[in-house]
Amino acid sequence: MTASEIRQQFLDFFASKGHQIVPSAPIVIKNDPTLMFTNAGMNQFKDYFLGNKTPAHTRVADTQKCLRVSGKHNDLEEVGIDTYHHTMFEMLGNWSFGDYFKKEAIAWSWELLTEVYNIPKDKLYVTVFEGDASENLPRDEEAFNFWKEHISEDRILLGNKKDNFWEMGDTGPCGPCSEIHVDCRPDNERQAIDGKTLVNADHPQVIEIWNNVFMQFNRLKDKSLEPLPAKHVDTGMGFERLVRVLQGKTSNYDTDVFMGTIHITEQLTGKKYEGTDSRKDVAFRVIADHIRAISFTIADDQLPSNTGAGYVIRRILRRAVRYYFSFLDVKKPLLHDLVPVLAAQFSHVFPELQQQVEFVKKVVFEEENNFLRTLDSGIRRIEDLMQQQTASKVVDGQTAFELYDTYGFPYDLTMLIASENGFSVDEPGFKAAMQQQKDRSRAATAIDAGDWVVLDETPDSVFIGYEQLESTTKLLKYRTV
Ligand code: ATP
Ligand code: MG
Ligand code: MG
Ligand code: MG
Repeated sequence: MTASEIRQQFLDFFASKGHQIVPSAPIVIKNDPTLMFTNAGMNQFKDYFLGNKTPAHTRVADTQKCLRVSGKHNDLEEVGIDTYHHTMFEMLGNWSFGDYFKKEAIAWSWELLTEVYNIPKDKLYVTVFEGDASENLPRDEEAFNFWKEHISEDRILLGNKKDNFWEMGDTGPCGPCSEIHVDCRPDNERQAIDGKTLVNADHPQVIEIWNNVFMQFNRLKDKSLEPLPAKHVDTGMGFERLVRVLQGKTSNYDTDVFMGTIHITEQLTGKKYEGTDSRKDVAFRVIADHIRAISFTIADDQLPSNTGAGYVIRRILRRAVRYYFSFLDVKKPLLHDLVPVLAAQFSHVFPELQQQVEFVKKVVFEEENNFLRTLDSGIRRIEDLMQQQTASKVVDGQTAFELYDTYGFPYDLTMLIASENGFSVDEPGFKAAMQQQKDRSRAATAIDAGDWVVLDETPDSVFIGYEQLESTTKLLKYRTV
């Protein structure tokens, strides 16, 4: 089954259960001080959960473009190193706004996975919330009992508050969640060691694919809980992980979601992707991952820049450039050539990239070109320093700042290079040097705070794309609605 078919089956399944299929919200969030990027499918539905707005449909499903590189969810350091955390990923989701609850959500997720996708039942585990006496949170007996109708009791694991209880913030809607994990190890390994012990152990082949959140409480200021008048379901399934499971691969990167980009990267570099832990193969994975995050955010109206969300994109882009420069031996712009591959691959799901493909390609090319001008000397600068500091194994703050200021190295890139060589970076020293440059100090400040965001549903105008690019000036075209 292709990735496209898998996505479509998800949507068709929930449509057949009375869900309205809605489009992904943009991956970039404008005008919200608490969240720069969409990090979960439910972000766009906040007001329904809070009761501020009434949804047109009480059951919806979609695939949502998400980015997890800052704030509460930051997976950047795992990307390319492990095989299942991405910067940008699609989160498949189904929602009930005061409609169905645990019984149906559990039954349908089981039906979809085992009867539509035909995942063998003996590869699945589920978790339910164990309760937390210190906070007066009850164990989720209901979910436990509904799961028992489908799966043997020894495959239902109890999870703690960190993994199995979701809350918006200090107050507001909250509730237990129930995750589904798949044991993708070969049969003989599964028989030798029980997968149960590996569910929470970060085992690379026993992975969480789906989270079902049951919002049933409202937390008040005095910390007490009251039942919500209308209970909601919020689920999120990692699309790339699902595809990997269904295509029988041991890495998300071996699926047709990423293989197109990886093949073109092979052609452009003359190197071969072998799926190992070598730096070369990590570079292939990082590039295949990062180009998606970069392309889709630019297509959703976020140009790389030196501040806020724009700087997040620039950081990701520069990280990718450094990976091909150092580990694939490519010294000229490469990423921009991958944009058309992605645009074509996703044209039927996220047409906004195809519609602006030349523009996005040009922005990426200019960014790459700019950074490549200083990258080589920056790398020599840090390497010289590391040769001198073999005793302390610390990159001092002043040098880290010089790398940032003169050579355009985002701080996390300096940290990455340092840690590859067994060095650390003097962060307080870097920050102190930064402080002296007030206007830039604001640039790297993360403003993400949590899962929630208000999306204005009735804007006067909506962004429909870039008209043209003149050097670094962007011209926006707006359509009045
Ligand atoms: P994990 O524990 O693997 O980091 P999570 O618990 O942080 O995942 P949720 O917030 O529950 O993830 O998101 C719902 C689903 O989205 C997860 O079950 C997973 O399949 C998928 N997912 C989460 N983070 C990523 C990511 N960085 N890349 C790809 N898929 C992801
Ligand atoms: Mg996570
Ligand atoms: Mg998890
Ligand atoms: Mg989870």
